[in-house]
Amino acid sequence: MGLKLDGRRVLMVGGGAVATRRVPALIAAGARIEIVSPELSPALHGHVDAGRATWTARRFEPGDVEGAWLVHVAIDDPAAAEQVSAAAEEHRVFCVRADDREAATAWTPAVTRHGQVTVAVTDAGDRRRAMAVRDLVAHALESAPPAANEYKGVALVGAGPGDPELITVKGRRLLAAADVVVADRLVPGMLLGDLRPEVEFVDAAKIPYGPQKAQEEINRILVERALEGKFVVRLKGGDPFVFGRGGEEAIACAEAGVPVLVVPGVTSSIAAPALAGIPVTHRGVTHEFTVVSGHVGPDSPESLVDWPALGRLRGTIVLLMGLKNLPKIAERLIAEGRPAETPAAVVQEGSTAHQRSLRSTLGSIAADVAEAGIRPPAIVVIGDVVHVGV
Ligand code: SAH
Repeated sequence: MGLKLDGRRVLMVGGGAVATRRVPALIAAGARIEIVSPELSPALHGHVDAGRATWTARRFEPGDVEGAWLVHVAIDDPAAAEQVSAAAEEHRVFCVRADDREAATAWTPAVTRHGQVTVAVTDAGDRRRAMAVRDLVAHALESAPPAANEYKGVALVGAGPGDPELITVKGRRLLAAADVVVADRLVPGMLLGDLRPEVEFVDAAKIPYGPQKAQEEINRILVERALEGKFVVRLKGGDPFVFGRGGEEAIACAEAGVPVLVVPGVTSSIAAPALAGIPVTHRGVTHEFTVVSGHVGPDSPESLVDWPALGRLRGTIVLLMGLKNLPKIAERLIAEGRPAETPAAVVQEGSTAHQRSLRSTLGSIAADVAEAGIRPPAIVVIGDVVHVGV
């Protein structure tokens, strides 16, 4: 049995750890949650402050049950819990007891959600076993394709920086449901190994012509397949909207009337430094980080970067696609005021088995990178955070 709680009053007695774990699902179900408890956890405070629940700061009184559709008991004082049960019984309201399943009249199952399907496993006293069964079902659902494709249109999915485990749960679920997958060069190959044989795979890196023509061709493929009724996953390295042309593809789809879903990804601009032990921000060291593309040099009239401003900044600079122009970029930053001894580092193929990194200074990084034979994809980090090193 499932309950439709949307807009209905649910009483939560208790404001501690158990209530904290139970309330989010009730919020997701649209319930009007009223918490009665002398104390409240910080997370529950957050829900109350945001207007997602109300709080009465005192112990339970039998009259609290009146008008509720469901009562949750999340306290560990047996006598007080019994009092709630008795009041619920009298008002004919179902009552969930976190402390005593025998005394309850309703139970919360272990749940897994998979797209539009929810699987609930109810236990008869062995909660641990129910959760294990739930996990098995969740695992099976994750690897099994959906019976009929419930998705339509195009999903722009961030694949993460390289480690196949760094795609999001949502991204992975959509990938398993795709009829067509269009992937970039930087997408982790391991993610593509699991695609069902009938999935059409388009390698965007192999599309000939110049970059502009190739992009038009990709847009055309996305729109055309989606209009055929197929579910298209456009898989991109890192995050789709960080130097990934995701915006252009979203616009092309929207103009053709194709629904677009964006699934953000773990961007290499933060992840690659992190995996080399460099936090892009650090308390007391920097209050900013700036992500810059170095694919056009600082002397090019095409550059949209304000290099003098960048040279004046004190915080972290994260440079993507910057290896080729690194000598000119480093030189320009120094000319614009950034000290040559500013710590700098480079991270090649972050998060993969081939990850390499080296540390240097702004003045020497270009020469050190050349000498070490660092190759793309690589990220350069400039700023005092490089010294924080963990
Ligand atoms: N959308 C991507 C960036 C695409 S631009 C993201 O959010 O990560 C491509 C550039 O990203 C590469 O030239 C390189 O600078 C950087 N890059 C991507 N993956 C990387 C990785 N695993 N390690 C280091 N740099 C990476």
